[in-house]
Amino acid sequence: MNNDIIIIGGGASALMLASLLPKKSATIIESNPKIGAKILISGGGKCNITNAQMGTEYFLAEDAFVAPSLKTFSEVDLLSWLEHQKLKPVMRKKTQYFCQNSAKELLDIFAKEVKKQKVLLDEKVLSVTKRGAFFTVKTNKRTVSSKYVVVASGGLSFPRLGASAIGYEIAQSFGHDIVKTAPALVGFTVQKEQFFFKALSGASTNVKITVNGTICEGSLLFAHKGLSGPAVLDASLYWEKGKIEIDFLPDFSWKSVRGSKKQISTLLPLAKRITKAFLVQLALEDKPFYQITSEELDKLQKLNHYMFAPAGTFGYTKAEVTKGGVATTEVDAQTLMSKKVEGLYFIGEVLDVTGRLGGYNFQWAFSSAYSCFKNIMGR
Ligand SMILES: Cc1cc2nc3c(=O)[nH]c(=O)nc-3n(C[C@H](O)[C@H](O)[C@H](O)COP(=O)(O)OP(=O)(O)OC[C@H]3O[C@@H](n4cnc5c(N)ncnc54)[C@H](O)[C@@H]3O)c2cc1C
Repeated sequence: MNNDIIIIGGGASALMLASLLPKKSATIIESNPKIGAKILISGGGKCNITNAQMGTEYFLAEDAFVAPSLKTFSEVDLLSWLEHQKLKPVMRKKTQYFCQNSAKELLDIFAKEVKKQKVLLDEKVLSVTKRGAFFTVKTNKRTVSSKYVVVASGGLSFPRLGASAIGYEIAQSFGHDIVKTAPALVGFTVQKEQFFFKALSGASTNVKITVNGTICEGSLLFAHKGLSGPAVLDASLYWEKGKIEIDFLPDFSWKSVRGSKKQISTLLPLAKRITKAFLVQLALEDKPFYQITSEELDKLQKLNHYMFAPAGTFGYTKAEVTKGGVATTEVDAQTLMSKKVEGLYFIGEVLDVTGRLGGYNFQWAFSSAYSCFKNIMGR
């Protein structure tokens, strides 16, 4: 095996694959001047690597496609691989594993590991073709050939960090279908009726969002352009169009405040300015709770199921991931190899597999890379 494998992209999935493969067996081609640009800014700079709660239910994908890779290289396997590399992630937010201080800790591991491979930076892949047993990969600088091509070029999110549609274009050129793509793990823009959110910009609160039957819990942030925060980002994965329901008082018991003489805005466990803005919208007066009529209470309890239709999302420039992608029906779940083209592999986000917020997308990038590695090594 001598530089037999071309890996398109130098992001999370590519770096894991190149780290696992034997010395001098692969060439990474990355359009950025540096590898792993997304890793560095991920998880607020600390990289949420994986999650102690792992399973196909945390992915928007075909369960049967995701399961074999998650089993072959689970979160436990990933953590022990990292430990072997002297990185011991810390648990935050109950189940999420992050780098201790900075995402650079993870990137440094990959940077050290991939030294054993050839890495072409600042070089853009333009097309891939196949003739006989060999692929020809054309870049903006040269033409190279190989026995295996691994498409690890990610999705369309964060174009400023190199995202491109090349993975989909390569897949299509070999007859693969692409499941419609959309920005995901991204904030929502709002329609006229919710323009009052703008005045709440900067305020955040814990919510429970229901979208297409899925519940997303966590913090919601009122942003200048609409809504953001972990619960909203998570909800965007399941939203296509239509209404979502937000419970702004997820752990609040109305019974516990019955007869209270406190003002509504003091009583509700929301920032005062949030409660006051909603009172205005609901045409309710801020007054002692015991004075409100049952009709007014009904109105106020709308805060438990506030329904509205987002106008859209903040788009690919702000989205953490891209949902949709190369259809998984045409890729082997055990090996990640195309069912149409011998020796062509798809790993990571380029596939129609999207994880929820919480380290699931990196786990998928690493697990799918491992399945691909196992298959190539067995050949
Ligand atoms: C702000 C942000 C924060 C995130 N935080 C987390 C987190 O904490 N936890 C988590 O699990 N996930 C997180 N994600 C998602 C995660 O980064 C991705 O799902 C993951 O990086 C996907 O890995 P990948 O290898 O498939 O693609 P990528 O990491 O996107 O790598 C693809 C690479 O291909 C290169 N490329 C594209 N086109 C070409 C071309 N034509 N020629 C050569 N190279 C090309 C790109 O430059 C890129 O480097 C975050 C994403 C963003 C944007």
